[in-house]
Amino acid sequence: MRVAIIGAGVAGPTLAWWLKHYGFDPVLYEIAPRLRKGGYVIDFWGVGYDVAEKMKLVPEIRRRGHDFQELRLVDSRGKIAARTGMEAFRSVTNGRFLSIARSELSSVIWNAGEGIETHFGATIDNIEQDSDCVRLNLKDGRQEKFDLLVGADGLHSRVREEVFGSAEQFEKPLGYYVAAFQSTGYEQRDELVYVAHSAPHCQVARIALPGDETLFFFIFASHLLDSEPTDETAQRRALESVFGDMKWEVRQILEQLQVADGFYFDRVSQIVMEHWTKNRVALVGDAAACVSLLAGEGTGLAMAEAYVLAGELQRAGGDFNRAMQQYEMKLRSFLRKKQKTARSMTAFFAPKSRFHMKLRDLAMNAMRIPFVAKLLLKRSFQDDLELPHYQG
Ligand SMILES: Cc1cc2nc3c(=O)[nH]c(=O)nc-3n(C[C@H](O)[C@H](O)[C@H](O)COP(=O)(O)OP(=O)(O)OC[C@H]3O[C@@H](n4cnc5c(N)ncnc54)[C@H](O)[C@@H]3O)c2cc1C
Repeated sequence: MRVAIIGAGVAGPTLAWWLKHYGFDPVLYEIAPRLRKGGYVIDFWGVGYDVAEKMKLVPEIRRRGHDFQELRLVDSRGKIAARTGMEAFRSVTNGRFLSIARSELSSVIWNAGEGIETHFGATIDNIEQDSDCVRLNLKDGRQEKFDLLVGADGLHSRVREEVFGSAEQFEKPLGYYVAAFQSTGYEQRDELVYVAHSAPHCQVARIALPGDETLFFFIFASHLLDSEPTDETAQRRALESVFGDMKWEVRQILEQLQVADGFYFDRVSQIVMEHWTKNRVALVGDAAACVSLLAGEGTGLAMAEAYVLAGELQRAGGDFNRAMQQYEMKLRSFLRKKQKTARSMTAFFAPKSRFHMKLRDLAMNAMRIPFVAKLLLKRSFQDDLELPHYQG
């Protein structure tokens, strides 16, 4: 069975790996000219970690990843308002927790799928399905025929738009914008510590990686802007207007923006769909059920979805309708719960008032007591999904 997969981020290469493992013939199409490099760092744990273990990728992911040491919240003079060691997170996940650049994770998975046909700089123009096949019309004029097509093309999925309908039907903006960039040579270090400063409705953070690189992260409520900035110049200006008056190191951080590498800016949204499959087309990862960065688990969930879709396709022995049904059924309520939990995390990233900031700081300091940490983290950091076992 030939399967086209649109998007070589995290879900796409994972799905390709499992399909190849089961004897299918996957082909990846990625819009970027090559695998993306650098970018923001993600926390990696839970069901995604389990899938990586099944793929025997954990040693390589660990080699390229980092063990963060501490979460630290500072006031406008840089004085520590709250802190907690990352031990609490490692303990609640039984040591199965690490941080890694999203692009590095993607590259580890893609490299593992050695020999999988991948077309870079390629994207869809449109998709046609009939009872025998799905036809993929590429922007460069090529037409390819497949048995199935899977959209693994992220939050703003083109496949979803083409086959299931406009983004507005499924995208639920959570009322925040996020921005991230990295640069070298930033003087303040605190290596492998997430150091953050908040004001009501916004947070700015820095994380120094080993070497000379620092990652910067911004999140803020969208009502702080009059309208959504749509190009990079306007997005950079928006950061200046929201964060420009904040104290701590925010001035220096905004200056780093001038020498930034890989600027990222987007709405914080979730994707909520009744069905992620339609005849011969399915969606995986953020395209299907984006939980948003607030969950801290989108990559892991994307890998779990890819694992289950591939497993169900092989279990159904060619009956793709049955496989698609099982895929949705096994994951729907789990993903809905994850989305709900993620929405409650705005209290950490962008508390509504100084009073809410104080409450958050108290909770974070209390997490230094192991029993309290377990209690507070359990809901977010334990996955109540046992991955199915598939033969083969
Ligand atoms: C700032 C930030 C912090 C985050 N932190 C965490 C975290 O701590 N832990 C965590 O697990 N997750 C985190 N996430 C979420 C995580 O990055 C996503 O959930 C995950 O990357 C989803 O994987 P995916 O493969 O579905 O989509 P993506 O990783 O977005 O990959 C989609 C791929 O499709 C390609 N593509 C897009 N359109 C097309 C097209 N038309 N044709 C062909 N290719 C296309 C893209 O170039 C990309 O390579 C964070 C996200 C952000 C923004």
